[in-house]
Amino acid sequence: MKNLRSRLQLIFTSLIILAIIVWAGVFSSYKADSASNLKIYFLNVGQGDSEYIKLPYGQDILIDGGPDNSVLSELGKVMAFGDREINLVVLTHPHADHISGLVEVLKRYKVDEVWESGVDYPSSVYDTWKTEISAQKIPDQFVTIGTQKTFDNINFKVLYPLSSLKNSKIDNANNASVVTELDFNQFSALFTGDLEKTVQPEIYDKLHAVTVLKVDHHGSTNGTDDNWLKILRPAVAVIEVGYNNTYGHPAPSTIDLLKSYAAQIYRTDQDGTIEIESDGVNWVVK
Ligand SMILES: [Zn+2]
Repeated sequence: MKNLRSRLQLIFTSLIILAIIVWAGVFSSYKADSASNLKIYFLNVGQGDSEYIKLPYGQDILIDGGPDNSVLSELGKVMAFGDREINLVVLTHPHADHISGLVEVLKRYKVDEVWESGVDYPSSVYDTWKTEISAQKIPDQFVTIGTQKTFDNINFKVLYPLSSLKNSKIDNANNASVVTELDFNQFSALFTGDLEKTVQPEIYDKLHAVTVLKVDHHGSTNGTDDNWLKILRPAVAVIEVGYNNTYGHPAPSTIDLLKSYAAQIYRTDQDGTIEIESDGVNWVVK
């Protein structure tokens, strides 16, 4: 009897250990699958920019927030359920079509860190942005070229401005845009804000061919020229624009130029939110 009981105990214990091993295997292979891919979402926020980057291992970056609170519902669709924290928020420049939605994000999410140029620009929404950051004591970096952050196997770095623009007055805030590059093995993406072609030559020597280009200044003629594309040669070009916008963005000449470089062109006014997923070598647009 005692022998039978100890045999049963042995079988039972072995079964439990086996179950743990099987579950650990299932769980770790699931984690490996979901963790290995980078996802970039060009959010459909109307006439404005907003890019949400979901990094492998769960961290995230939000660049700009579009012109209104539509970014909140867009984030709700792409962020993990219950995730109320964003690791890094980048404000390219304080124009309303980039900053307005970001202020709403600051109010509703726990933001761990902010990057911005700190350019002087009088506007009530920019004042609210600054008040919110200081009230919440969010670490706020006034970035220049060289500022970078590594998230496991992904590098995220600033290419512009070349020197500090903190509190500096500038005629055109587009040219205070924080430009960032993300590198993941053979995959790269360039986020240009609204930097205009009068200033772009200052960073020509910092650039190389990229997989994905966030087309400068909503596809305006002043954001894209042949010299720019000759260096960047994007496989995928994403234009963030509002349907029937009054600016005439994107310019037909920008579309033609991108086509002449054989870029796959996507636009938020026609395609809605655009998702690009990559394992660091291959990529797919959804
Ligand atoms: Zn803009």
